[in-house]
Amino acid sequence: MSLTVAVDIGGTHIRVAVYEPDSITPVAHERTRSLATQPGVYDRLEQAIESVWPQEQVKAIGMASPGPLDPHTGTILATPNIPEWKNFPVAPKLTQHFGVPTYLDNDANMAGLAEWQYGAGQGHQNLVYLTISTGIGGGVISHGCLLQGFHGMGAELGHMIIDPAGPLCGCGKHGHVESFCSGPSIARYVVEQIRSGQSSTLATQPNVSAAQIADAARAGDALAISAFERAGHYLGIAVANYLAIFDPSILIFGGGVSQVGELLFKPFEESLRKHTFHPHYLDNLVITKAALGDDAGLLGALALARMKSA
Ligand SMILES: [Zn+2]
Repeated sequence: MSLTVAVDIGGTHIRVAVYEPDSITPVAHERTRSLATQPGVYDRLEQAIESVWPQEQVKAIGMASPGPLDPHTGTILATPNIPEWKNFPVAPKLTQHFGVPTYLDNDANMAGLAEWQYGAGQGHQNLVYLTISTGIGGGVISHGCLLQGFHGMGAELGHMIIDPAGPLCGCGKHGHVESFCSGPSIARYVVEQIRSGQSSTLATQPNVSAAQIADAARAGDALAISAFERAGHYLGIAVANYLAIFDPSILIFGGGVSQVGELLFKPFEESLRKHTFHPHYLDNLVITKAALGDDAGLLGALALARMKSA
């Protein structure tokens, strides 16, 4: 029996798990702090994997990491979460150390792949996954294939341009989907409106989070409600673009901001209907929440390793 090792590395934690064939329940699991801004991230990663490395044969390692990265060469280009890793060939290094092939892709692609294989998207062949939290990431399955692209940088759905004169995005450019619809972007809009004189129950808060805005909206705060209406409006424009390109049968939303529910999704669906090129895109289109939660990255890394080593 040959096992698969999956790794999910983020700014706060490294998670490693070992899986038997055809199972998504790990036989071993390790979670440790990545201490991403301190030296030695790679050594901590190697140790975490060693701590669960099984006696049995391992077929492959799959790894999900924040990008941008090149999945074709297994190299992290420059991820803001792990400043030490610049053009860092993490997959070749793991391959050399552990003696098994290592496959790498970005965390949003991996979450999309996991939802397709094991989660909310099972049975679909054309899937668009979007995670909305601090940033916005995307993953696309097209005709049963994970879309990676020539440079391995496809499906960066959060950085589609909605308005080139729009707000500053987390990536440093302007007017991307993320700059309108991520949690911090929604909060920034609320703060700007309060500064320009709009009244709100949030005006007394020193820092406003998307979760607090959601609470205020549910309590009837007009600014908080309008902040989600605005985000939903832009999200609808973005998704109308995705439909025109990918024509999926299912849209899956993950990430913390997606948990606010109707506050965001009612204006989103109105905007989507209004901006979609043709209503036929919406026929039998499933719009749903992600099913795998925090395990999505890890399970995507598992799915990638199984797919590539099959
Ligand atoms: Zn951007």
